[in-house]
Amino acid sequence: MTKPTPLIDSHGRVHTSLRISITDRCNIRCFYCMPAENVVFRPREELLTYEEIERFASVAARLGINRLRITGGEPLVRNNLAGLIERLSTIAGINDIALTTNGVLLAEQAAALKNAGLQRLNISLDTLDDDVFFQLSRRRGIDQVIAGIHQAKKLGFDKIRLNAIAIKSITEQEIVPLATFARQYNLELRFIEFMPLDADDQWQRQQVLTGDEIKKILETAFCKLLPVTRDDASQPAVDFRFSDGQGRIGFINPLSHPFCHNCNRIRITAEGQLRNCLFSTTEWDARELLRNEGTDDELETLIRSCVSGKNAAHGID
Ligand code: SAM
Ligand code: SF4
Repeated sequence: MTKPTPLIDSHGRVHTSLRISITDRCNIRCFYCMPAENVVFRPREELLTYEEIERFASVAARLGINRLRITGGEPLVRNNLAGLIERLSTIAGINDIALTTNGVLLAEQAAALKNAGLQRLNISLDTLDDDVFFQLSRRRGIDQVIAGIHQAKKLGFDKIRLNAIAIKSITEQEIVPLATFARQYNLELRFIEFMPLDADDQWQRQQVLTGDEIKKILETAFCKLLPVTRDDASQPAVDFRFSDGQGRIGFINPLSHPFCHNCNRIRITAEGQLRNCLFSTTEWDARELLRNEGTDDELETLIRSCVSGKNAAHGID
């Protein structure tokens, strides 16, 4: 059998990474993502089943997708995520499975996830302070998140990253405590510039705390940050190491330094809609094919047209 041609878009970018949202639900309400109240979640039957996700990922894998990231909403609120990871980890061609989580339910699920084949974890951690956590997420739970981080570390995941949002007038005071924590436990910390993804539509450009501003604060508090050459050019982060040898810091700067030219990602929503960018307003309906006897060839055509319709850049600024 001849190998299918890779997923290359009209700008020459080869796509090898698929982000799979498995739910729109969440157990907290970060103001930069969800409204405080009256969130209307999709009925369960509208979400792809684990069987449908597995089939979609298998077709994508034949086209050269080799990395999967599970996200949401909060993926740990969906039943038996370990069961999905187990299915995905048997797909030929998939050599990396990662999860992005808020960490609230991680301590209780980490062992099952690891046993199922999960390799890497991104845990969102914007603060270590209980009150700031409440201010940001409108829920209590920082102790559970920290317990989840310790449990994951104890279990020996290949890589655990902490992701902190960077918002002006909020994040400045969190930078040094977060970096101290990451250095103490030898965890990689990344700051992500605030993007216009909030459900309340309140985002403003001047609220973005840039990676350059955070870097200055870190260098003043600790020591010089030295650039690290990345091993994977498609990684959105710019990485640095502390010159005292203790730890690494990354910056994901979609606003101040967009990285679209290296993007290798496509995403599928919990309802089975394929997108070629986080900010894309166009969707390709995979669920329709998955539920109505669509063939693998038809799914392949859908994935290819999603990739070939990708814009050069996100255009959010
Ligand atoms: N619930 C999981 C979590 O919080 O890690 C996974 C889904 S969440 C949408 C994925 C990541 O997006 C989190 O690290 C979160 O901080 C980040 N995020 C959400 N809204 C954002 C925004 N407006 N700007 C930048 N990052 C955002
Ligand atoms: Fe939930 Fe993650 Fe959104 Fe926060 S960022 S509300 S944890 S989905």
